[in-house]
Amino acid sequence: MKLRQVTPEFVDEIPRKLDRGKLYVCCQYRAVKHLCACGCGAAINTPLHPTGWTLICDGVSISLWPSIGNWSEECQSHYWIRNNRIRWAPKWSRRRIIKEKESRQLELDQYFGLNFSPQPPRPEWPEVADFTSLRNWLGRLARRLLRRP
Ligand SMILES: [Zn+2]
Repeated sequence: MKLRQVTPEFVDEIPRKLDRGKLYVCCQYRAVKHLCACGCGAAINTPLHPTGWTLICDGVSISLWPSIGNWSEECQSHYWIRNNRIRWAPKWSRRRIIKEKESRQLELDQYFGLNFSPQPPRPEWPEVADFTSLRNWLGRLARRLLRRP
């Protein structure tokens, strides 16, 4: 049965056995974990990280951003957690999931500086001839400026 809400539980460590309907928050390790809201029993990690999830706690309830898409699970559940409530989102197509995974991987790679895409070669120091042409160009510019009233 699909859950309609979660109860946040702030813990020092995420317990091995998770209770359904609880959302465990371990601030020290920036870990947030819960059992999939569809009831399939999959443990879902939503790590707090600039490239992961953001947790908002208003003192009474919690919200997670962005949505939780359990694309690696068979259920493919997709939902939001807003003010302890679960808002079910439409299922995504296989193509959209693949795109999302790709853009997420790119985001992670960029964050951790692991972008292996070929970089343009660094410009070499200009040859002496280039300094000469630069000096000539600057000379022409200076003469032109000095001619002005
Ligand atoms: Zn599930």
